[in-house]
Amino acid sequence: MPLHIATPLLKSLALSAAGRCSAWLKLEALQPPGSFKIRGIGAACEEYGRRGARRLVSSSGGNAGLAVAYAGRRLGLPVTVVVPQTTSRKAQDLLRLERAEIVVHGDSWHEANLLALSILEESDAFLHPFDDPLLWHGHATMIDEVAGSGLRPDAIVLSVGGGGLLCGVLEGLHRNGLGDLPVIAVETAGAASFNRSMCAGRLVELDRITSIATSLGAKRICDRAFQWSREHAIHSLVVSDRAALDACERFLGDHRLLVEPACGASLALAYAASPVLESFAKVLFIVCGGATTTIDQIRDWLAQQG
Ligand SMILES: *Cc1c(COP(=O)(O)O)cnc(C)c1O
Repeated sequence: MPLHIATPLLKSLALSAAGRCSAWLKLEALQPPGSFKIRGIGAACEEYGRRGARRLVSSSGGNAGLAVAYAGRRLGLPVTVVVPQTTSRKAQDLLRLERAEIVVHGDSWHEANLLALSILEESDAFLHPFDDPLLWHGHATMIDEVAGSGLRPDAIVLSVGGGGLLCGVLEGLHRNGLGDLPVIAVETAGAASFNRSMCAGRLVELDRITSIATSLGAKRICDRAFQWSREHAIHSLVVSDRAALDACERFLGDHRLLVEPACGASLALAYAASPVLESFAKVLFIVCGGATTTIDQIRDWLAQQG
């Protein structure tokens, strides 16, 4: 039994009406730790366990860390998560609930990650949040489920942080004979490392992340994600933080599910009736989820947008 669940795939009348297309949702927000990340991270933790790992270590104060904590508890392996001081209260509470050891260190992910790497022992497995082929194999199972359902969308919309989800979805499309299906890759302004690289025609590292969608805040996408952009039809789009936050609030009203702005970014294409959807009749949205925020936080951010 894998650590992730097979998630519902349903048609959304609300997003269909807003986006003027037939909008389908793959509800990864319903995964036990709150996001798609458990697919890949669960598979990777199981594999590292089989290879003899005695402890799982992560430096993510976001959904990757939550997925490692969940996997470790289910597998009976101790978990240490080193997180920066900026990690949300909500995320720390959830990590504690999973009984992970939490080490708070540094002002940013960079410093937390350095400490995590420095404490690694021979029998530890370090889980990268997006740059690991084991993760992509695991993420690809969401497309196996879509293909198995018989649904044949005309395009897939997903969010991009470091590109692990993108690599997984593309692997899933290609292993199910759907390699001609276009992918719409969405980021928020201030976290658009994929878009910058696509425009430049080479991998570009951002100086800093300024978006509130912290789960999309990788300064640099993984090499494989960039390589895929030369092998597959990928449309790169950037939306504002405000559009992502609006989408979170509307999605909560429409589907009674709270997701992070990282996920709202994708849903914003429907809610803002993005012209890019006009060329497609049936569109599948990966509702990647995210458990590190609250509705109060989302409304505070919205208020700050003015
Ligand atoms: C991690 C994450 C993303 C981005 O995934 P990458 O694999 O880093 O591209 C998007 N949304 C949520 C909710 C996430 O947790």
